[in-house]
Amino acid sequence: MTDGSKIAKSDAQWQAELDDETYRITRQHGTERPFTGRYHDSKTPGTYLCVCCGTPLFSSQTKYDSGSGWPSFYQPVAGEAVAEIRDMSLGMVRTEVLCARCDAHLGHVFEDGPAPTGLRYCINSASLTLAAADGQGEGGQGEGERGA
Ligand SMILES: [Zn+2]
Repeated sequence: MTDGSKIAKSDAQWQAELDDETYRITRQHGTERPFTGRYHDSKTPGTYLCVCCGTPLFSSQTKYDSGSGWPSFYQPVAGEAVAEIRDMSLGMVRTEVLCARCDAHLGHVFEDGPAPTGLRYCINSASLTLAAADGQGEGGQGEGERGA
């Protein structure tokens, strides 16, 4: 689906393509308020894609309930899918997680996650779009509990 090539668009291009909240979070390193995102509580099986470029980033199989109010995963679908850089903003040292392909800001990774990785990828819902495993796409959460 993707050829892995880097996507480089100007801020103006992204702003034209994304809604205001998505643009603010993914391109301006924003953070959605906890418990407000569309996926923090979702248990729908599927793959979470980068909302900006469609690259698969996280699987519902590695999603867990961290109680933080943001979607939390213990590992990405592939190590090369995400980029991690040191973030010194807000007087804290954190590790920022970016889409490796388009540099969308996704969230942060912390070292208080569950086994097997011990990592907690704390990701904004606004940075993700869920491709449901049963092909319903977004909005299929109402009856999405079957299977699994
Ligand atoms: Zn991306």
